[in-house]
Amino acid sequence: RFNTAAQVDELITPPVEIRYTKHLINGQFVEAASGKTFPTYDPRTGEVIAHVSEGDEEDINRAVSAARKAFDEGPWPKMTAYERSRILLQIADLVEKHSDELAALETWNNGKLYEQAAKIELPIFVRLLRYYAGWADKIHRLTVPADGNYHVQTLHEPIGVAGQIIPWNFPLLLFSWKVGPALACGNTLVVKTAEQTPLTGLFAAQLFHEAGLPPGVLNVVSGFGPVAGSALASHMDVDKIAFTGSTETGKIIYQLAAKSNLKPVTLELGGKSPFIVCEDADVDKAVELAHFAQFFNQGQCCCARSRTYVHERIYDEFLEKAKATALKRVVGDPFKKGVEKGPQIDSKQLEKILGHIRSGIECNATLECGGERIGKKGFFLQPTVFSNVQDDMLIAKDEIFGPVQTILKFKDTEEVIRRANKTRYGLAAGVFTKNLDTANTLMRGLRAGTVWINCFNVFDAAIPFGGYKMSGVGREKGIYSLHNYLQVKAVVTPLNDPAW
Ligand code: NAD
Repeated sequence: RFNTAAQVDELITPPVEIRYTKHLINGQFVEAASGKTFPTYDPRTGEVIAHVSEGDEEDINRAVSAARKAFDEGPWPKMTAYERSRILLQIADLVEKHSDELAALETWNNGKLYEQAAKIELPIFVRLLRYYAGWADKIHRLTVPADGNYHVQTLHEPIGVAGQIIPWNFPLLLFSWKVGPALACGNTLVVKTAEQTPLTGLFAAQLFHEAGLPPGVLNVVSGFGPVAGSALASHMDVDKIAFTGSTETGKIIYQLAAKSNLKPVTLELGGKSPFIVCEDADVDKAVELAHFAQFFNQGQCCCARSRTYVHERIYDEFLEKAKATALKRVVGDPFKKGVEKGPQIDSKQLEKILGHIRSGIECNATLECGGERIGKKGFFLQPTVFSNVQDDMLIAKDEIFGPVQTILKFKDTEEVIRRANKTRYGLAAGVFTKNLDTANTLMRGLRAGTVWINCFNVFDAAIPFGGYKMSGVGREKGIYSLHNYLQVKAVVTPLNDPAW
């Protein structure tokens, strides 16, 4: 029996109001040019909670013009870096002050656990802004030792107007990953939030303005990908596009950027990351980590370790305990204390996940537990575990983006490296072992942007994040994100030239 102790019928009223639903352009909340709105939902019930301005090409044009003016005329890119840093610190303080409200709105619109939003994601947001505030006045130029009688230096200048498109699974966290480094470098921005979760980006951006960000520097447009997102990616006056979302959409973004003005692109895309449990592992700990690495955020994580490879000697014990852990997970209202799993984001994702589960059953993987929707209201799903999974099954190849753990058996390290790498993705990997040699062999052999050894989901602002292969292009966070938002200008002057 599943642990659905926290009943989905007795829902808590969210402790926050919805105040902002219009686009934020040039420091003002404005209706869509077309006057259109679209509904946004509470995933606990599927009910509409607000109507939000629906952006189209005209709204993107207005937002890009505001960002362009703010870039060309300043003051943002022309301020001293220290002044920019101070404003970013003030923003971090104000966001921290409003963390509980932001977290409540995030839970209401996304269905993620309130405790997770308030105690993990908002602190990461604030820390990341402070981290990049620290970088703003430490972006140094170089003096270059070139041949000949020249003084050569490089200037590191903001790239201009950046377009940023974010998904629904971490609406605030990924908002901070995008805007933090871009603002620190002196760029101006147009952010297109995900159509499923438009509310918190608007609230956060309003706080940015209250804290002193000049108008036009950060513009937020709500709307759908193929209309507003596509207009942003193909805009001729946007100098850079940064995208987080699915690999399929990432390919479209790349094409739109190339077909328009060849703007540089960074892509943070999907994954099918392995979690490798070696034979020397403490099974209880490995079960716990593998469970969280898969089920965190309802399994809606790009870096979910969704292929759990377990050494054959401990496979049976691991399986039994993994199943018991999934059965214990408390599903219910994400606002309630003690609840460990909220609803999926929407009916489309729920149906997609149920389709993957059916495919697993049809391929003769063993459904150990779960596999069904809970109740008729909202988008709740049982934590699901499959065993006897083979590498060529769709559930082991496709990104499920839901609470489905697939468990596979392996015999030796070389074999598991080969199988773990046999995927079009390469975002992250987990390794669980006490043996340093095994850890080192796996860490070097795995083709993934992040390898967590005996830990998971460590998202410090300084640690770069991004994918190999079709999981992405470029890195975000840390010093690497600064490179995404800077142009390098080489400046050459002659030394002691009598002609001058
Ligand atoms: P998605 O690609 O459908 O949408 C992401 C964003 O792109 C949304 O804002 C959407 O409106 C926009 N978009 C959609 N079609 C577009 C188009 N034609 N032109 C321009 N913009 C368009 O992805 P999703 O379903 O919202 O998010 C889940 C995916 O995101 C998963 O694959 C997940 O792995 C990935 N993701 C990756 C990371 C990472 O850092 N690598 C982080 C979170 C999520």
